[in-house]
Amino acid sequence: MSLVNMKQMLLEAREKQYAVPNFTVFNIEMLRASVCAAEELHSPVIVAFAEVFESLIPMEEAAPMFLETAKRASVPVAVHLDHARSFALIERALRCGFTSVMLDASDQPFEENLRLTGELVKQCREYGVSVESELGHIGGLEGYDYHGDAYTDVQEAQQFAEQTGVDALAVSIGTVHGIYKQEPKLNFERIAELRAASKAPLVMHGGSGLSDSDFKQAIQLGIAKINIHTDLTLEAVACALRADGQTGYFDLSRQMFEAMKENAKEKIRLFGAENRA
Ligand code: 13P
Repeated sequence: MSLVNMKQMLLEAREKQYAVPNFTVFNIEMLRASVCAAEELHSPVIVAFAEVFESLIPMEEAAPMFLETAKRASVPVAVHLDHARSFALIERALRCGFTSVMLDASDQPFEENLRLTGELVKQCREYGVSVESELGHIGGLEGYDYHGDAYTDVQEAQQFAEQTGVDALAVSIGTVHGIYKQEPKLNFERIAELRAASKAPLVMHGGSGLSDSDFKQAIQLGIAKINIHTDLTLEAVACALRADGQTGYFDLSRQMFEAMKENAKEKIRLFGAENRA
């Protein structure tokens, strides 16, 4: 149990048709809400840190909290770096002891993305660290500008997974990060095609704001990991908006923790990950 990488978790999820929840989190309340929800429902879980959070807390200071929480958990927990844009950041995560990293070179030409990912997979194998990479670009709020929005190409996915040996493939199938400005329309046919073509389990980013049936269908067709961030933050913001001038910050933090934990549990159940630990 406790601290693991995500390779085995995802292979099992793909085989048994459920999705492992990835909660991308930046503070104690979010981290503990994610891990406590997983413990209560006996689910494997991935907790991820992202570069954009460094304006609040440097990775080196957040990492001990993530790793200790994972080690003490009664369920398997992977500590993952989300959306790294440079090898320098990934090296820092490896030094911190993260068990999993994501390279986001999705704005690079295909050949370059393939080369960089292949190189990273080779390096990470030595440390037993799993690697996720993005192919086709998922839009939204990941902290840099890129204006392509094509769905992931099926042939490219096949070649990419085969040649890089990557452990998880983030695909563009109609989701975006953050709050949807219009109703999301997932390309289910593409998910099924990618599932058939890719050796690597498929990852859905931008999971917040999708309907229950979107999740269920996407998982049934082959999504094995789903990233959630915005929905947890919206729960916390709702708590803050309900608070009056008499609510202390500690009480508010407890309320936020409880609300985010309930949301995480809802996701775990929807993803079919309950009792999979
Ligand atoms: P949301 O913020 O839309 O849930 O997306 C999270 C995500 O994909 C992090 O990588």
